[in-house]
Amino acid sequence: MRNPATGAVFAEVPETAPGEVDAAVARAAAAYERWRWVAPGERARLLRRFAALVDAHVEELAQLEVRNSGHTVGNARWEAGNVRDVLDYYAGAPERLTGRQIPVPGGLDVTVHEPLGVVGVIVPWNFPMPIAAWGFAPALAAGNTVVLKPAELTPLTALRLAELGREAGLPDGVFTVLPGEGAVVGERLVNHPAVRKICFTGSTEVGTRIMAGCAAQVKRVTLELGGKSANVVFADADLAKAAATAPYAVFDNAGQDCCARSRILVQRSVHDRFLELLEPAVRAFRVEDPARETAEMGPLISAAQRDRVAGYVDAAAVAFTGARPDGPGFWYAPTVLLAGSPADRHWREEIFGPVVSVLPFDDEADAIRLANDTDYGLSGSIWTRDVGRALRVARAVESGNLSVNSHSSVRYWTPFGGMKRSGLGRELGPDALHAFTDVKNVFIATEE
Ligand code: NAD
Repeated sequence: MRNPATGAVFAEVPETAPGEVDAAVARAAAAYERWRWVAPGERARLLRRFAALVDAHVEELAQLEVRNSGHTVGNARWEAGNVRDVLDYYAGAPERLTGRQIPVPGGLDVTVHEPLGVVGVIVPWNFPMPIAAWGFAPALAAGNTVVLKPAELTPLTALRLAELGREAGLPDGVFTVLPGEGAVVGERLVNHPAVRKICFTGSTEVGTRIMAGCAAQVKRVTLELGGKSANVVFADADLAKAAATAPYAVFDNAGQDCCARSRILVQRSVHDRFLELLEPAVRAFRVEDPARETAEMGPLISAAQRDRVAGYVDAAAVAFTGARPDGPGFWYAPTVLLAGSPADRHWREEIFGPVVSVLPFDDEADAIRLANDTDYGLSGSIWTRDVGRALRVARAVESGNLSVNSHSSVRYWTPFGGMKRSGLGRELGPDALHAFTDVKNVFIATEE
């Protein structure tokens, strides 16, 4: 493992061999036969204890993430706290996983939400802790066992979370973390017949392959994929606030965020004024050692990612950039590009770095058309003081998560997920357990 802020190697993690994946899945399948019958209240108690242990280790987990992923320490603390909150929230679920009684003649008809079995959770490197928990917490609460594969570059916090789960009293085989390669560990989870569901977060390219792999076994699949979200600023908006907050909506986590508002659409009449207001906000964005309390942005995850990001900027019209530290580490300055047309590569493709493109629009219809002119549909923001317009645009933009006059981040108690090629299914919120259960209908005859 390399520290992205310095480029220095600081830990080694052995990869899981194919045979070890099969052995782990077999242990998870055996554990499932017991875990699914653990009394709901007892399952809830174990998850609450797990949450309490995560809470007691927030600082340790955060420091591990700063070193392994280059996240700012403020973000990393939020991420560890999010794992605790997601566990706490779904710890309330086992006793509430109720079915329905449906009136039928001649008997009683009830529905039961049955767990699926072994669930494979495959996680990307950009938010190693929260994304893992959004999968494993509801899956465990519903009575499944979990085998989780972290990303190659960022396995350390997931491995620590598995230890905390064991310490909390989760039985052997209920929650297993297998570090290793996507093509080895990930594919085996997708192809293994005893794995009954894949919960995948990552690129649309890999997600498409995973969906095809799951199709061969009619395996359940949830996909949280890429994004190219629009931040739509109308002329009647609070321009100062829209401009001051826009950098946070795209440069947070160095832009390595599936929800990054990386396309800013500004109404033509205020386009130049908006850029004037945006420039000082971008220049003031604090890019520094992520271990410092004041850091707003750290380095990118790897040298390869930095080179990929630079490839988008080289041929584009740069409006202005922010600062970046000199020296080793995978640093890239926040960068604002002017889009010449919606055909520009930087306007269309997910860059996954601290780069934002700005394009003017004429009217509401034009804004909606341009916002929807993408294969993605994950997130987005709408800035206007006109309530009717805010609602019209929010209904018209094809995206799973929108915010008006804010760039709200993900909340564990509201649903999250993408439309179009940004994904399939929803995570978090009150209904997430349904993605980890199947409905069974049981009819009991009452006639003699
Ligand atoms: P990636 O698709 O390269 O990898 C994601 C995970 O899949 C990793 O653990 C990887 O090892 C594994 N994997 C790779 N090939 C595999 C295969 N053939 N079979 C099974 N598993 C395989 O993505 P990444 O580069 O780690 O993450 C960045 C992407 O994730 C971006 O596109 C981003 O938008 C997306 N993302 C989406 C969300 C969301 O909630 N929608 C959240 C975070 C990140």
